[in-house]
Amino acid sequence: MRDELLKQATRVVIKIGSSLVASRDTGLRPEQIDRLADEIVAIQASGREVLIVSSGAIVSGIKKLGLKEYPKSLPVKQAAAAVGQSRLMWAYEKSFERLGVKVAQVLLTHHDLADRRRFLNARHTLSALIGFGVIPIINENDTVAVDEIRVGDNDTLAAEVAHLVDAELLIILSDIDGLYTEDPRKNSAATLISLIPDITEEIEERAGASSTFEGTGGMATKIQAAKKVSEYGVATLILNGQKAGLLPHVLAGGPGGSLFLAKERRFTSRKHWIAFTLRPRGTMTLDPGAVEALARRGKSLLASGILNVSGAFDVGDAVSCLDQDGKEFAKGLVNFSSETLTQIKGLKTAEIQQQLGPQEYEEVIHRDNLAIL
Ligand code: GLU
Repeated sequence: MRDELLKQATRVVIKIGSSLVASRDTGLRPEQIDRLADEIVAIQASGREVLIVSSGAIVSGIKKLGLKEYPKSLPVKQAAAAVGQSRLMWAYEKSFERLGVKVAQVLLTHHDLADRRRFLNARHTLSALIGFGVIPIINENDTVAVDEIRVGDNDTLAAEVAHLVDAELLIILSDIDGLYTEDPRKNSAATLISLIPDITEEIEERAGASSTFEGTGGMATKIQAAKKVSEYGVATLILNGQKAGLLPHVLAGGPGGSLFLAKERRFTSRKHWIAFTLRPRGTMTLDPGAVEALARRGKSLLASGILNVSGAFDVGDAVSCLDQDGKEFAKGLVNFSSETLTQIKGLKTAEIQQQLGPQEYEEVIHRDNLAIL
């Protein structure tokens, strides 16, 4: 199962962690970049389509600016990203050029992905690049991205890209071997789990307490990335990118790393985007009848089923639907602002008309804009 999947995956997104390509003391690591480029080009030459999501801009920038430590202030971090990104890209450019392969820089923010038109535009651009045999090298546009427009970490960005380009496999390369049964530093009997059919709550919890799994932080975002893409039918491989030759070896069916299987795809791209890319701007608590109508009977949401509205949102924003226990069970795009909904919650369509006059929409969330989680 594992071997087949790894051998057959055609479109792959490879996330390269900062520690693989840069160090704070020495800056970029050209020898590592060359080795990774060699391995990635070999993978591409075997008939696969490859996209890279690479970190390392900030770490590389720290060295270039001569900073003593990891910057705390945002403008300095962004300055480091700006000087580091061009150096990072230049290193990739040179390295892939040796092998006759063209690369392209693509910088994205959450904003680019949360706007459906920009999302589709990015998808078309990336497809065009792949069509030319170019390897896109993607990073977050750290220089301009702050807070609400930031994806925040590249594990998550790589997951978003895997969905964006309809990949079959997401590969997360870092300096860890994968997911262990226990903390290998504390228990020598700990073994690497090579296949994870399902990301259970237990796995998520253990990854949350990151130090029980690995030396450096970050297992939690990797597991969350795997979970996100698994809902879209994409498998995730976590692999140690420090080990020369491991990547092509594992893709050829050899042992190594941890593979998280995908679930059957439940959503269209658009509904997956609503469910996993968009951030909810508010919540609506629904009565049991409305919960049942949405979750079991595929209905749209009407104002009469809404008990409570919180948050400040506008027409077209993503909003979470909660049951009476406060559990989020659906997410959708609303046809009314939070202000209007506060006035009309619990009311029937005729009552709304009496109160506010004729409305453009009857549904608060149309079923086509609703993802049941
Ligand atoms: N975008 C950041 C950088 O290139 C890295 C973010 C991350 O590692 O998750 O420096």
